[in-house]
Amino acid sequence: MKKLKVGLVGASGRMGREIAEVINASPACDVFYTLGRDKKVDHKLAEKVDVWIDFSSPEALPEVLKTASRHGTPVVCGTTGFSKKEKSLLEKASKEIPVLWASNMSMGVAVLNEALKVFSSIANFDYQIEEFHHIRKKDKPSGTAITLQENLEKAVSKKCPEPLAIRGGGIFGIHKVHAMSEEEVITFEHSALNRTVFAKGAVRAAEWLAKQKKPGLYQIRDVLFGK
Ligand code: NAD
Repeated sequence: MKKLKVGLVGASGRMGREIAEVINASPACDVFYTLGRDKKVDHKLAEKVDVWIDFSSPEALPEVLKTASRHGTPVVCGTTGFSKKEKSLLEKASKEIPVLWASNMSMGVAVLNEALKVFSSIANFDYQIEEFHHIRKKDKPSGTAITLQENLEKAVSKKCPEPLAIRGGGIFGIHKVHAMSEEEVITFEHSALNRTVFAKGAVRAAEWLAKQKKPGLYQIRDVLFGK
């Protein structure tokens, strides 16, 4: 079987190392090329990449998208903390190549985002999202909390208070969505038990995205539920 050649951006980071481990254990793909900070792109190698996986920093995005667009290569991006301008770069690139950006690559969070739709039937409740992450996390609130907030506000057709962000210890990621009335409280909760869950999701998304023929902005839910 021909292995999928993965280009990995941020390979020496916490997520990059985890993703490389998942890929190395897979019979379907290989880490073919890595890009890090201050490493100039070798286009002879970049053109052979079948799919990029980027878990680095917002500053890396323009170069990653430029390289991928030049060679017509799909990009799975898990980096968070993007500005509006950087998000628009993702949209622009998706006119030329398949791009899948997800603030959380776990299938559980994809399901949680879908589950929020049921809150449309109790839109009059009060809502609050809470997130907990390890002390070294750079962005606050987490990209996952921002995505959950967007989906929650869509479901209940109203603005909700900003997510509460708590930083401490080594927590991989806990997200809670509270729905509260005078009589009852519902809490949806997702906990990531390790970093591998994001790495496995990213590799699954890359294998799926490499098969998508059309340019477009894909979401992690599309891997589970179809576009
Ligand atoms: P990290 O700081 O451990 O690693 C970042 C890596 O990116 C480092 O190797 C660094 O050298 C590299 N890098 C930074 N700037 C670069 C540039 N301009 N060009 C190339 N490489 C560059 O961070 P981490 O914990 O691995 O997280 C990386 C990103 O992934 C963060 O944005 C984080 O929020 C996000 N993340 C997403 C998910 C998800 O499921 N989507 C899960 C966990 C983390």
